[in-house]
Amino acid sequence: MASEAYPLVKTGGLADVVGALPHALAPLGVRVRLMLPAYPAVRAACPGAVTLHRYADLHGGPARILAAEAARMEVLLLDAPHLFDRPGNPYVDATGTDWTDNALRFGALARAAADVALGAISGYRPDVVHAHDWQAGLVPAYLHYADAPTRPATVMTVHNLAFQGRFDAALLAPLGLPPRSFAMDGVEYYGGIGFLKAGLALADHITTVSPTYAAEIRTSAEGMGLDGLLRQRAAAVSGILNGIDTDVWDPARDPLIAARYSSRDLAKGRAVNKAALQARLGLDDAPGAPLFGVVSRLTWQKGIDLLLEVLPRLLAHGAQLALLGSGDKPLEAAFKEAARAHRGRVAVTIGYDESLAHGIQAGADALLVPSRFEPCGLTQLCALRYGALPVVARTGGLADTVVDANEMALASAAGTGVVFSPVTADALAHAIDRTVELHGRPATWRALQRRAMTTDVSWARPAERYAALFRALVDARGS
Ligand code: ADP
Repeated sequence: MASEAYPLVKTGGLADVVGALPHALAPLGVRVRLMLPAYPAVRAACPGAVTLHRYADLHGGPARILAAEAARMEVLLLDAPHLFDRPGNPYVDATGTDWTDNALRFGALARAAADVALGAISGYRPDVVHAHDWQAGLVPAYLHYADAPTRPATVMTVHNLAFQGRFDAALLAPLGLPPRSFAMDGVEYYGGIGFLKAGLALADHITTVSPTYAAEIRTSAEGMGLDGLLRQRAAAVSGILNGIDTDVWDPARDPLIAARYSSRDLAKGRAVNKAALQARLGLDDAPGAPLFGVVSRLTWQKGIDLLLEVLPRLLAHGAQLALLGSGDKPLEAAFKEAARAHRGRVAVTIGYDESLAHGIQAGADALLVPSRFEPCGLTQLCALRYGALPVVARTGGLADTVVDANEMALASAAGTGVVFSPVTADALAHAIDRTVELHGRPATWRALQRRAMTTDVSWARPAERYAALFRALVDARGS
């Protein structure tokens, strides 16, 4: 159960993961039915949906559970017009403010998922319920307090601990949670109701999206208030890296880029893509200038403000910057201003643009990811696959997926990018210096690109780990 899944509805990496896992698990004998809210776009993608279950009143209105096939996936939709039939973003209104009834919206989705798990749909009893992020956090809680004779195993996956879904305690009864659930070992969280906290407390197993992040979230520095609970549950916590869809992200077959190329033959194709990107964005036609790319939400988490600070240093190297993203208005404005001030050298596109994201990965020499924290990160995986060398902060999944090209690594034919720490403007500036220096050594750079492009960033290995975890949990429950 999740609140978004690519390609049906996406605001971030969560959707990529949820949309990819069913396909990656299928060959391993794991059949996934994906439960999502019937947002207008999702409903529209499921014209032949059939009704499997009805609620006369689910948190304020009638609702149905529908089944359909969409984007080659089996989906179950919670069709509750009073909760989900709204335009725009899944979580916020047109002004960017959280929908005021988010607790009831995602509480309803979790309730429906728990009902399905307990047999609401005839002929269907899943072995495992996999709950993603705070929106699904109440699923383990509803199952725990249902006191049913049997229930499926539960896995809670944290894609980002910063989003916790904390709501007023007065919602306990409206959410249909029993009074006894309002306890330290239940849904209570700092005097309110914590959706993610509930999932972390009550799921059989907890995963997060990289081994390093799994360790980081157990520390007070990065546990965001949940580290105590996570330390307590340490034996049930593991990190499974994300992959990317290597069919969608395949430079040898990508219809969204100007020229296709592979790790064996990349020089010409990449040169064409770089020239095309420069032309598309109004950057100077400078084949030799190191071109740095950014594809990111523009928020504090992503360390994008640090990039703004070191921009003069980047430009002093004769380098260029192509940035695509959206987020905090002051950051958007500052980057637009930088683009005006450095026409031809800095290109800034505010918005969400799948095609340009591919163009940047194929045309930029390096991709900057200076995140202050990063549970896994997907853009650096795309960058590896496309031979845009990732320049990343040593944190979370970035630390797990990029090998720093220091002299020792180079001497032993290792290295796939540039890794820096601490996450400060100085360290980022130094990383940019090192990247430019490496870019000036063509044979070294080419070898790095080849290694990056042949790194396995697919779902094959992560899917095996999820499948093994699911089987172990089912075995442990003796079902
Ligand atoms: P997060 O989920 O924290 O935003 P990730 O790196 O895990 O970050 O995933 C972000 C996903 O969204 C990637 O697939 C990335 O390519 C994509 N993305 C982010 N911003 C944009 C944008 N402005 N346009 C197109 N794709 C974007």
